[in-house]
Amino acid sequence: MSRRILVLLSGGLDSAALLYQACRMVSPRNVEAITFDYGQQHHRELLAAKVMARSLLAWNNWQQLNLAVIPEIVQSRLTGNGDNDWVPGRNLIFVSVAVAYAMTHRCQEILLGSVAADIYPDNSTNFVKTVNATVQETFPGHTLGVSVPLKTLSKRQVIELIPPGLARLTHSCYAGVWPPCGECKACKDRELGYAEAGIPDPLLVAETDPLLEESYSDLLLVSDAHQE
Ligand SMILES: [Zn+2]
Repeated sequence: MSRRILVLLSGGLDSAALLYQACRMVSPRNVEAITFDYGQQHHRELLAAKVMARSLLAWNNWQQLNLAVIPEIVQSRLTGNGDNDWVPGRNLIFVSVAVAYAMTHRCQEILLGSVAADIYPDNSTNFVKTVNATVQETFPGHTLGVSVPLKTLSKRQVIELIPPGLARLTHSCYAGVWPPCGECKACKDRELGYAEAGIPDPLLVAETDPLLEESYSDLLLVSDAHQE
């Protein structure tokens, strides 16, 4: 049986790099991605995730899952009802749903998009280690593993991994707008990453919203190149 990978695809740069890496590790037809609608104010990232997945993966290999309960039970700036950029418990809920999804879809590996700059406890390598122990406890004898392959990378290194044609389909801005606001933390982090990489942000040079284009043929070539 071919190895199958499940990617948690938010629609941002980090998860785009993760998706791209997964499609180079195995055939894109063996990559699945899920995207969570958790009431985020910047729901444009859901469209970004959808467009990226449709461009790189087989048609049935992406799903958007509804976790609208999250803003009913926690408070965060991202869900429009708090002051903090952290969404308490969100990643724990995400990974629990991902594990159940991976079991049903016979995936052997789950990739999470944590990078070096992610400082919250539920982005840490120790968190992932604990999750793996819990998975083994929950499903004895199964080989499902959770990993964070980008964990040591800076934003600049993440940016250098992603083809510009894919980066232009991402969304980072917490204000949820295009063109990006340039003022929020997500925009600032992105701006710094591109400045350090010494290349222009494809989102800022685009003249119209890239997510509303009808053709993504440049990316489809990436996908075709990895078909078995
Ligand atoms: Zn912004």
